[in-house]
Amino acid sequence: MKNEREELVDKLLSNGYIKTEEVKNAMLKVPREEFMPVENRKYAYTDQPLPIGEGQTISAPHMVAIICEILKINKGMKVLEIGSGFGYNAAVVAELLGPKGHLYTVERIEKLAIAAEENLKRTGYDRCVTVIHQDGTRGFEEEAPYDRIYATASAPKVPYPLKEQLKICGRLITPVGSHNLFQELVCVHRVSLDEYERSSMGGVAFVPMIGEHGWPE
Ligand code: SAH
Repeated sequence: MKNEREELVDKLLSNGYIKTEEVKNAMLKVPREEFMPVENRKYAYTDQPLPIGEGQTISAPHMVAIICEILKINKGMKVLEIGSGFGYNAAVVAELLGPKGHLYTVERIEKLAIAAEENLKRTGYDRCVTVIHQDGTRGFEEEAPYDRIYATASAPKVPYPLKEQLKICGRLITPVGSHNLFQELVCVHRVSLDEYERSSMGGVAFVPMIGEHGWPE
């Protein structure tokens, strides 16, 4: 008999959200319940966003699958995430990166940054994930440039520090659009030092990215 996590992954596969073996195996491995407040753990394998406190949510599993498929992560890459939340998407990316890769994840709300760090430590992902508490619209200059950058909160436009911190041939994904509910998932490919190609990956709904190059407080 399949367990709840296997059943959810089957559903994401048959709906076309999961396309590759790599993303399938990563999502089969990460215990989503470990990245949620205790009272919501019974819903860990339903495909929906859920509250994690501070007015924020853990992304729905299908959204994590979509982001991971578009990112096309290879083992050993250096990646930057904006919006750690409780650390679930970070853990799935850590699986894709393997022990030689590294993810830097930035969270603006201190309580959530602490929770993400604890959750990633308890599950052993802290070996290849570093949580940083600061405004992620400025990126994380200290470790730039990155092979991949993705944001799990939406900005009025693509924050330029994120574009600048991308390696040439690197890929950036961020929701862009209205403050709440209706946004476009934008994928930016850095073609050369000063040339970027932009494509739209469809409509999404994320919480706002608040900060210097995002929405005001
Ligand atoms: N990646 C998370 C999604 C959490 S929701 C997951 O796996 O479920 C998005 C998060 O972005 C929230 O925790 C919010 O506090 C954070 N956020 C919003 N603006 C930010 C900013 N400027 N810098 C860093 N984090 C930000």
